[in-house]
Amino acid sequence: MNLDTLYQKTILEYASIIDYKGEIKGATHIERGHNPSCGDDLTLVSKIENGVIQDLKFLGRGCAISTASTNMMIEVFIGKTVTETKELLKVFFDMMENKEVDENDVLKLGDASLLKFAYNMPARIKCVTLSWHCLEVIVNK
Ligand code: ZN
Repeated sequence: MNLDTLYQKTILEYASIIDYKGEIKGATHIERGHNPSCGDDLTLVSKIENGVIQDLKFLGRGCAISTASTNMMIEVFIGKTVTETKELLKVFFDMMENKEVDENDVLKLGDASLLKFAYNMPARIKCVTLSWHCLEVIVNK
């Protein structure tokens, strides 16, 4: 299996996860992200208490890549502190801009580190980063 196939397979697997879709009882922050060029329209719902992301889910519809990226992101950030989240978001955005990032920091992104493969696909970058920008807005509120 070559890297492209592995990448596609992982994207499709993550796009089919439904565990992270839905509302959160007692949600504290909600942020909508819209990507007109593709049609992705996702709303990130979170519950942040005592400086920790207690729960994270999303609503709406997006393409396979934006949905997979959102699921990968949620998997990483549930249970993280707001401070850790800000640090990891910086690692992610640096990675997506193809800046130099510490290998150990990239590992903390889990399967989301695979999304780096989209950095040279301008049409796909917005799909990949949509919900990550929503999370960025949320933790900076
Ligand atoms: Zn998309």
